Formats: sequence, C-alpha cells, structure tokens
Amino acid sequence: MSKSTSNTTGLHADSLLAHAGGGFDPTTGAVVPPIQTATTFVRDEDYELVNPGYIYSRDSNALYQKTERLIAALEEGEDSRLFSSGMAAVAAVARSVRPGGTLLAQSGIYWGTTLFLRKHCARNNIALVEADASDLDAFHDEMSVTRPDLVWLEVPSNPFLKIADIQKISELCRQSGARLAVDATAATPLILKPLALGADLVMHSATKALNGHSDLLGGVVTTADASTDTWTFICEERQNAGAVLGSFETWLLLRGLRTLSLRVERMNKNAMALAEYLEAHSKIDAVLYPGLASHAQHELAKAQMTGGFGSLMSVLVKGGKADALKVAGALDVFQRATSLGGTESLVEHRFTIEGEGSGIPENLLRLSLGIEHCGDLIADFDQALAAI
Ligand code: PLP
Repeated sequence: MSKSTSNTTGLHADSLLAHAGGGFDPTTGAVVPPIQTATTFVRDEDYELVNPGYIYSRDSNALYQKTERLIAALEEGEDSRLFSSGMAAVAAVARSVRPGGTLLAQSGIYWGTTLFLRKHCARNNIALVEADASDLDAFHDEMSVTRPDLVWLEVPSNPFLKIADIQKISELCRQSGARLAVDATAATPLILKPLALGADLVMHSATKALNGHSDLLGGVVTTADASTDTWTFICEERQNAGAVLGSFETWLLLRGLRTLSLRVERMNKNAMALAEYLEAHSKIDAVLYPGLASHAQHELAKAQMTGGFGSLMSVLVKGGKADALKVAGALDVFQRATSLGGTESLVEHRFTIEGEGSGIPENLLRLSLGIEHCGDLIADFDQALAAI
C-alpha cells in the first residue's frame, strides 16, 4: 500500500486545478498520471480482482475517476461521470425521463440539445415542452400546467445568453417533485455552480472550456446527491450504453483542466472588454452579454455568477445577413468556426447553421473569446466593422 499521495482537502479550486486534482502516481512517483490504456484488469488465482473496483474500462478506470473527482470538487457535487461528448451526457440525463413522462426544457438553447430532445421525446412517448426560462413568472405557470419530471436549463443560454434564475427554479422544482438539470457549459464551474443554487444535476460539454484546446470531444454530468435513483440510472446508462470517454481524451482533459482558472480569467476579461467596445460601436445594434449593465438579467447574472460572466457573447450587426457575413469574413484574428471555450477566438454566423424557422436573427454573430491579447481582438473587429 502506497503512502497518501497528497492532501488536497481545503485547497482553493485554482490550486486543485493546477495539480490536476492532486496526488502523484503511487508506483513511479510521477507528478503527471499515466494514460490508462488497459481495457481489462486481471484476477488472481482465487479469481479475486487484483485491484478491486477495476474490471473493464467501460465501467471505470483510475484516470476517469481522478478526473471525475476533480470535476465533482469544482462543482461542489458528490459524484461525476465523464461521457464521450457533451451530447452523450445530455442524452444520458434526458433518458432518465421514462416513456409517458414530461420534460420541460428552456427554449432557445444550444440547437443540438433542442434537436436531440425533440427527436428523443417524440420517439419515446415523452411530452416535451419548451419555454423561456428567463421569464420566471411564465416559467412558473408552465411548470404548474405541465408538471414535468425533469426541467432542463442552459445558463447562460447559447446563443442568446439568457440567464435563468437557478435558485428560484430549483425551489419550484422541489415543490412540484421535478428534477432540475443545468447545462452550464458557457459559464464553466469556476463562475457558475448550479448545484450550490439547488440544481440536482449539472452538465458540461467538456469539449469547450474545461478542456479548452479544441482538440477533444467530451462531456460530464455531476450530481448533488449520489444516492438518488436518477444518479444510479445515469451511471448505469454510461456503463451499459458505453458512451465513455477514451483514456487519451481523459488524459488530455485532465491536462487542459490544469490551466482552467488562468484561461477563464483571461477569457472573461477579453469578453468584457470586447463587449464594452462593441456596445459603443455605431455599426452594432446590440451586444448580448450578461456582464453588460444593458443585459436584461444583468443583476441576476451578478448574483449567480462569481468572478466573471463567461467568454460567450452574441452581437447583432447593424443591417442584415449580408452585413453580418461581411464582418465575419473580414475578421482575421477570430477564426470562422463553430464551438466555444478554446484558447483561440471564434466567430460563427448561427443563422447559416440553424436556418429559417430557428428564430436566430440573420444579423447575429456568436463570438467565443479566447486568450489572445485583448488589443488584437478589438483591433480585429475595428477593421472588420469598417468593411460595412
Ligand atoms: N451544450 C452546449 C451549451 C453546447 O454549446 C454544446 C456544443 O456546442 C453541447 C452542449 C454539446 O457538446 P458536444 O459538442 O461536446 O457534444
């Protein structure tokens, strides 16, 4: 039995992250954990597992567990499970609603989630209701009528950056016996902790800022209470349906997490500075960013989020689709690509992706702020907006 590899209790999240959750490899003393490539684990002559708990990698391995413990600590939750993508994590949570049940989802959220929920619910006799969760009174009325089994929020929402009141909605859920799951991908656990605000589950696309380097797909779900039937279902779902993250991806994710707090700090700063610059620009109609006083839920965002407002924003370019595309086309530092949360800043014309009937304004550009020098990002928009 090796000595304890380190004591991380009581450490600030920044320190936990810098040490990738703490501890060294007990066999070699290495400060970086090895990639756990084995898919299967041996038994002794009496057919007892040599290392109880490890049987087969679809169930678990030491590297998943180390990463899951770190994320659970960041979320102030009891347990986490990694998935092979953000959508695999969304699907596992959604499947916890049984046929005949009801799912109430926030409207105007990540298109992939909406699309999955619509198809999944239609095929499985689950009633899906979509409602604007940023209007608390209307959402309350919707809950009273629909009496959902599960409420799904996305805070801040992508790409409208709406802020739902997690604490108030969690109270409504508790009163009506619904479970509350929050996708907090656009915030990161460093600036938004849905479980501390009363949510039952929090989910992240680890593809985004958690990993932060645009080089893996991953997802994670964390629970406030590991003894619930819902959590048992989600764990079984990962194990039996097999949407596990690969070991190399898990290792990359753990490496990315080491710098999460530094990246989030810089990305928040860049986002705030660019939002203020764009809001004052004569060729911009509106900036959707919860850090701005002009944002409809700015006060709520200030109360719910700590240390920043995230790195995602949307801007409405004066004019129409052609003007927005012209600005996107003229940007040099921002890369024209989907996704968010990477070290490089990205710009996306969401209407091109989601199309007619999606409700996305044709002049909307969604921006993900990276860790570049802020002056370069502002100068890039300055020259691109001069093109229209
Ligand atoms: N949730 C949000 C808010 C997202 O933006 C995304 C992807 O863009 C997802 C979930 C899905 O994650 P993934 O692409 O890792 O499957």
